[in-house]
Amino acid sequence: MRSFDVIVIGAGVIGSSVAYHLVKKGLEVALVEKGGVASGTSSRCDAVALICDKKPGIDTEIGFASIQLFKQLANEFSVDFEFSSRGSLYVCETEQELEVAREYVSQQAKDGYEMRMVDRHELQEIEPYLADDLAGGIWTEVDSTMNPYKLCYAFVEEGKKLGLQVYDYHAVQNITLDDRGRVESVVTDRGTFHTKRIVNCAGVWSPKIAEMVGVHIPIKPRKGMVLISEKTPLKVAHQKVHEFGYMLSKFEDIHFKRNVSELVEKHNVAFTIEPTDANNFLVGGHRAFRGFDIRSEIEVMRAIAERAIRFLPILKELNCIRAYAGVRPWVEDHLPIVSEVEEVPGFYIASGHEGDGISMSPITGRMVAQLITGERTDFNIDKLNFSRYKNNQAVNI
Ligand SMILES: Cc1cc2nc3c(=O)[nH]c(=O)nc-3n(C[C@H](O)[C@H](O)[C@H](O)COP(=O)(O)OP(=O)(O)OC[C@H]3O[C@@H](n4cnc5c(N)ncnc54)[C@H](O)[C@@H]3O)c2cc1C
Repeated sequence: MRSFDVIVIGAGVIGSSVAYHLVKKGLEVALVEKGGVASGTSSRCDAVALICDKKPGIDTEIGFASIQLFKQLANEFSVDFEFSSRGSLYVCETEQELEVAREYVSQQAKDGYEMRMVDRHELQEIEPYLADDLAGGIWTEVDSTMNPYKLCYAFVEEGKKLGLQVYDYHAVQNITLDDRGRVESVVTDRGTFHTKRIVNCAGVWSPKIAEMVGVHIPIKPRKGMVLISEKTPLKVAHQKVHEFGYMLSKFEDIHFKRNVSELVEKHNVAFTIEPTDANNFLVGGHRAFRGFDIRSEIEVMRAIAERAIRFLPILKELNCIRAYAGVRPWVEDHLPIVSEVEEVPGFYIASGHEGDGISMSPITGRMVAQLITGERTDFNIDKLNFSRYKNNQAVNI
């Protein structure tokens, strides 16, 4: 039986980063994946690392640190993952939204983050195709973009140079514990591996992995659909542009009323757009609980198009060439789980990043490597500990 210091389950963006950061510490690591690299949510998403869509506090702190780490990795890696810091623009439709946005910016500025309000004239200067009746917005300089698919491969290929073993098309079927309840081995459909440490990075499937050791993780799949435009010479948007109402669709405890159609309301759609290097545009966004169903829904596509045209009327001129959907690993308090599980020594979880897994992948990998090697983590990550769910096992999937 082959033996490793650590086995990482799931080669999405989180598992790939965790595996890379662990081999960098000199550990023998296997990355075990039931499909191909990036075959889960990490290839069915958008492509941004933002701080402007995070809540003030640790959420933003992690997001910001991750962007700094992205810059470093983009210089170090020989695999290009198309990283660039273009900034991002939040657009407020009404004066009421602008008021809420001002409070948000003032809190973030107090914490030392560079964000500023822009008026309706500056909105037009930054993005000339925006509708001319919008109230204003927020500009965030640090916000960045990359290609998430290439990012996963970059972590994996750089990890392989340091000795990472990748077992793709190996589905984990069981985990055995020794007679003292500690991690002992990982059983796959193509063989068993011995290890004393496992990191569960299986995204929306991480509850199924945890069940194998009798642990319940309250993660729910939260669907999101994206429309892809044809390539165009038009610079429809120069960077991530989204409506401030995105915060409403992401977080359940943010309250203001948008003036939207029944269709948009019904599907919890909030306008987002981002350019790719090839000059196609990814247009979203959408959030809904539909189990693991990732089929494209025509009504949702209509709602996304309607909302996008409200903000960028020029989009009426462009064809949509395809659509896809993915499922975000959602947790109730919108903070990822990054910790060992106290009851099962050697069993770690790095999951539950919802709409921020790409953005938070570098720092998550780094923190898990620090936890496993017994170093101090960059932050106090008590709030990310799995023990926070001990008395709250009520999220139904
Ligand atoms: C529409 C949409 C837009 C998004 N946009 C952004 C964005 O712009 N920025 C951002 O930061 N985040 C974004 N996200 C969120 C982001 O995509 C996720 O948070 C992230 O991809 C989760 O990564 P992961 O590695 O945890 O999960 P995954 O990528 O799903 O990886 C988990 C892996 O585990 C494997 N696995 C499962 N079960 C087993 C098993 N039994 N054995 C072996 N392997 C197994 C799966 O095959 C999979 O490859 C978006 C998500 C969606 C849906």
